Amino acid sequence: MSKTEEIKSILGPLRVFENESLSKHTYFEIGGPAKVFFEAKSIEDLKLALKAAKKVKIPVVVIGGGANVLVSDSGFDGLVIKNRATGVKLVGLKGTYSKHGRGIKTAFVYAASGTLMNQLARFTLDQGLAGLEFLLSVPGTVGGGIKINAHFEVEQGEFLGRRLASATLFNPKTAEITEVDQKYFNFSYDHSKIQETGEIVLDAIFKLGKSPDPVNLWQKALANVKRRNEEQPIGTACSGCVFRNIDAGDANRLATPNLTTSAGFIIDSLGLKGTKIGGAEISNHHANFIVNRGNASANDVIKLINLVKEKTKNTYGIDLHTEIFLIGDFKNV
Ligand SMILES: Cc1cc2nc3c(=O)[nH]c(=O)nc-3n(C[C@H](O)[C@H](O)[C@H](O)COP(=O)(O)OP(=O)(O)OC[C@H]3O[C@@H](n4cnc5c(N)ncnc54)[C@H](O)[C@@H]3O)c2cc1C
Repeated sequence: MSKTEEIKSILGPLRVFENESLSKHTYFEIGGPAKVFFEAKSIEDLKLALKAAKKVKIPVVVIGGGANVLVSDSGFDGLVIKNRATGVKLVGLKGTYSKHGRGIKTAFVYAASGTLMNQLARFTLDQGLAGLEFLLSVPGTVGGGIKINAHFEVEQGEFLGRRLASATLFNPKTAEITEVDQKYFNFSYDHSKIQETGEIVLDAIFKLGKSPDPVNLWQKALANVKRRNEEQPIGTACSGCVFRNIDAGDANRLATPNLTTSAGFIIDSLGLKGTKIGGAEISNHHANFIVNRGNASANDVIKLINLVKEKTKNTYGIDLHTEIFLIGDFKNV
């Protein structure tokens, strides 16, 4: 039996697709086919598919919303699991009981890892809980968000990891499932430990404060959405910010314009907005976004990334690092 047949026999022949185009599953709308493709509709599905990949010894990758990935033109020679295990609920409250819940100080919210961050934000806002309002309208899932430590106003400490209390992880190498707390992740800007370990988030619990002014929370969240809509190339195929910002020490040492740490500002200062390779273009709206003008290949995007890296290195001595994750083979680019 082939590996694909084995996967089908474990996950069900009608739920496993061969040669599924990944361009349909990424915000970039770029990417070749997945050899085998499966949509996990629950955490049980997700565990079963991950265990199947280990048993059959086939490479595996989990995608959430596909909002922070670039898939190679040759696709992925293995099993791609699209995580659609969703669910959000209130699982605990701390404080004193009083009428209208005014004595509640802290709440714990559970989210399955395939829950959209936007859905999590809406739930917490509706419950009058403060701390995740910055996620309103941020694309992607809780699992993808934990991996990159999704954020908005970095200076104000608006990081997803800051609100995480605990999570359940699956280790694809050992098939072990562990419960870990926030410290385990070693969160920092654009970083969490699972980027090194390759562990998969099954679910997570967030610790949030009860807001005395829920209306204000919604106003703050909607103001963020407005700003995002003004600053980002909304409605265009892209994968969010491509490069990580640099740290303040490097900005000072390398004397960036106005000592900026913003990768977008640095790229803009090099006059690169609007630069095109094939169908990929550095957005005129926000220089840290590469947009797909309709027919871009992953190779076009990589060439543009390399061009930006080279120019920043030559002009400022800065090594820019990508924020997006690569899936598939990019050796020949
Ligand atoms: C228009 C636009 C605006 C954006 N604005 C912001 C913003 O303001 N702030 C911000 O932080 N980000 C922003 N992003 C980036 C994106 O929203 C985040 O990076 C988000 O966390 C991606 O989640 P995802 O589920 O789509 O991850 P995917 O793109 O599907 O995957 C990203 C990585 O996470 C891994 N992964 C996915 N699910 C899991 C899981 N369950 N466990 C472990 N690993 C997993 C994947 O294998 C991959 O390596 C923006 C993106 C776009 C397109």
